[in-house]
Amino acid sequence: MVFNCSLCQKETCYVSNFCDTCEFIKRVCNIYGAVEVKNILERVCIRNTEQRNFKISQELKKEIQNKTPGNKKELKNI
Ligand SMILES: [Zn+2]
Repeated sequence: MVFNCSLCQKETCYVSNFCDTCEFIKRVCNIYGAVEVKNILERVCIRNTEQRNFKISQELKKEIQNKTPGNKKELKNI
C-alpha cells in the first residue's frame, strides 16, 4: 500500500511512515528530544518581522557587495 509521509504529507512512502527527509528529522528528534528540536526551530527558523527585515537587509547588502566590490563605503547606511 502507498501512503503519504506522516510528517510532511507530500512525499509518497511505500514501506515506512516517513520519507527519507522526515526519517532523518525523526532520528534527530530521537537523539535530541522533540522539545529540544522544537526549541531550536523556534530560535533559529522562526523569526518575527523585525528579525526577518534585518536578515533581508543583511542579505541584500551581501548581494550588492558581491556585485560591486569597490563600493563598500556607500553600502554602510543601507
Ligand atoms: Zn516527509
